[in-house]
Parts: sequence; structure tokens; C-alpha cells
Amino acid sequence: MIPILEIGELHQTDKPVRAKENFLVFGSPDIGEPEIKEVVDSLRTGWLGTGPKVQQFERDFLAYKQADHAVAVNSGTAALHLSMLAAGISKGDEVITTAMTFCATVNAIIHSGATPVLVDCDPISCCIDPDSILEKITHRTKAILPVHFGGHACDMDRIMKIAREHNLKIIEDCAHAIETKYNGKHVGTFGDFGCFSFYATKNVVTGEGGMVLTKNKEDADKIKILALHGMSDDAWARFTDDGYKHYQVTQAGYKYNMMDLQAAIGIHQLKKIDRNWIKRCEIWQYYVDELRHLPIQLCSDTPYYTRNGHHLFTILIDSEKVGITRDQFLSKMNLEGIGTGVHYRSIPSHPYYNETYGWDEAQYPNSFMIGQQTISLPFSSKLTEDDLNDVIRAIKKIINNV
Ligand SMILES: *Cc1c(COP(=O)(O)O)cnc(C)c1O
Repeated sequence: MIPILEIGELHQTDKPVRAKENFLVFGSPDIGEPEIKEVVDSLRTGWLGTGPKVQQFERDFLAYKQADHAVAVNSGTAALHLSMLAAGISKGDEVITTAMTFCATVNAIIHSGATPVLVDCDPISCCIDPDSILEKITHRTKAILPVHFGGHACDMDRIMKIAREHNLKIIEDCAHAIETKYNGKHVGTFGDFGCFSFYATKNVVTGEGGMVLTKNKEDADKIKILALHGMSDDAWARFTDDGYKHYQVTQAGYKYNMMDLQAAIGIHQLKKIDRNWIKRCEIWQYYVDELRHLPIQLCSDTPYYTRNGHHLFTILIDSEKVGITRDQFLSKMNLEGIGTGVHYRSIPSHPYYNETYGWDEAQYPNSFMIGQQTISLPFSSKLTEDDLNDVIRAIKKIINNV
């Protein structure tokens, strides 16, 4: 991560007294010695690109998710884009997704040639509202792209039923939800495609990286070919001691393959996935216990039949109750030395979507409200009890001084 240097840090004498002495970076990855050793091993063997470590990472990920087929790619965005293409989605089609998500979800739809259609989210879980999906289905609708927001599972029973009744593909955006389950089943294994991200701030990191889970082998093969220029054979096998094999380009593909250097990190991150998840469960409880009496709304608990992957811990700042706006609150947290995130301003709030599709924030009131009020607190498994106390102290100080 890029260290954030504040003006206050340049002049020791001018330094304000703040809750956190050394700036606490939001979303800092929890990297250990095994990840470092494995990357060094890749460097020493010289196998940097797609190779045995990527295969290993795919196998380990499949075992963890109890899924059938996996293809590693170089980002969550690539995972979404290739899933769209493998699902046969193209120009003239419509894909329904949520107004409360990261821009990459919507961009993947756009890059497939299809038209994104937004629906509002549930105000509590921030996941897509199934009733609103029904209202937006037309004869052009080809797929639904639910986002398991912050680690919450979407209502997959309802969404799968809608998909069956209307013959729609399901592409799950699981960028926040590696550990998430719904009725005991891993998310990303309900739909035709499950897309994951290992970006530096996610629960399992490879720096940049992603994965697609598919139900059937044909889809996995399609994605594998599309991820490597449209070449018919695994290019990494070209240079093995089996002798040179010609590859054939069967379509104009992309350059979306994962490197061994990335998989090297992911293999060891996966080994710690349960430990890190339990740590975040503890952090979650600590935040809830310490913040529940303040005039801010905390992110919701999880229904008993789901397991929350715990990617985000969010609070809502309602300026009527707190006395300052969310953006003012953000600046004050920064001054206290606490890095925060905003997940997310609603999709229609961004000029490109607003101008291109004519989407108006007011048509998606829950997403708009969350986009105006939400703050994500530091939530890495790396946080110490001191870090947490500093975050809590900063929040209380800001609220009490308004
Ligand atoms: C991070 C993220 C993505 C994109 O993943 P990248 O690996 O950064 O490309 C997609 N959707 C959501 C909801 C995300 O949070």
C-alpha cells in the first residue's frame, strides 16, 4: 500500500493530537512470511507467468469453495467480463444489477455490449432487492448480476427462482464474499458463474487477481481460452519439456491470465482464510459492542441461515442525528489519523452512467441514501486491539465535539 503522508507528519512540532499517532491505512492486507517466501521462490525459479502455482491456487480455491470448475484471472473485473461473454451476452441484451456496487460490476456489463439495468438495494443488507428485479425484466433481459455486498449473501432462493422462471443466467459478483454462505452453500456456486476478486483490499489478496467458478466444464474452458488471447491450448504448456506445440487462435481473446507471482501470494492467503475470517468476526463484535449506543446506524447483523464473509464494517452518518455530514465525518476521521472507505456512492451518482443511461439517483432511493451516509471502518484481520480502540476513540471524539 502507498503510505499516506500527512502535512502534520512533516513538521513534528505542528502535529495535532489525534486519536491515531501513525496513520491507520484503510484495507491494509495481512501478508505473512509464507507469502513472501513463495513469491521469492517464483522469482528464483524464473516461472513468473501462468504456471504450476496458478494451477495449485485454482485447485485450492475449488476445494475451499466446494465448487466444480475454476479459472484464475488477473482481476475481479476480468472475471465478470469473461463470465458475461461466456454466458453469451452481447449487444441488444439487458443485464440486471444493483445500483449499490462498485463501478466494475456495471462496466463488465457495458464491455460485453449489453445494456445494464439497475435496481435498488435493500436498505439494511445493501444487497439487490428481488422484488425490484421482477419489475425490470423485459424480453431483452438475459442475466441477473447480484452482488453479495460487504459479505452479506443476497437472497439466492428468490433470485434463483426468478432466473428459472424467466430463463436468465446468473452471474454472482462475489468480490466481497469469498467466505459467504447461504443455507450452508457457498455463494458463487448458485449461479452459472461466480466471480471473485483478490485485489489488495479484499479478504484474500494477490495484489491484483480474480477467479471465476463455473457449474460446467464448457464454460470454464471458454473462459480459459478467452483469458489468454483466444489461444486453443494452455500457453504455459507450450514451453515445457514435452516439446513445442503450436497453438491456434480460435477467437480474438483478452490478456486476463493470472501470474504465478500472484498465485504464490494467494496459495498462502487461502490457508489463513478461516483464521482471518474469525479475527474479523471478533473485530465486528468489538465494534458493535463499542459503537452501538452512538447516534449512528451500524451495518446489519446476518440472518441465521447465512454466513457473512465480513468484508466491510460500515456505519451510516445521518447528518440530522450526528450534526455533520458524512463527508465532514470522513475528513475528521482522516485528521484523527484513521483511514476510511466509502462503499459506495450509488452508481447513478457518477457522471458517466448518469449521462449515458439517464439514471437518476432519486429513482434508487436506498442506494442513494447509503451512498450519501456510509463510511467503511478499518476492518483488516491485521488490526490490533490498540488500532480498534483508536478507531473507536476517534469516532466518539468526533460525535461528542460536534
Ligand atoms: C473489487 C470489486 C470488483 C472488481 O475487482 P477487481 O479485482 O478490483 O477488478 C468488482 N465488484 C465489486 C463489488 C468489487 O468490490
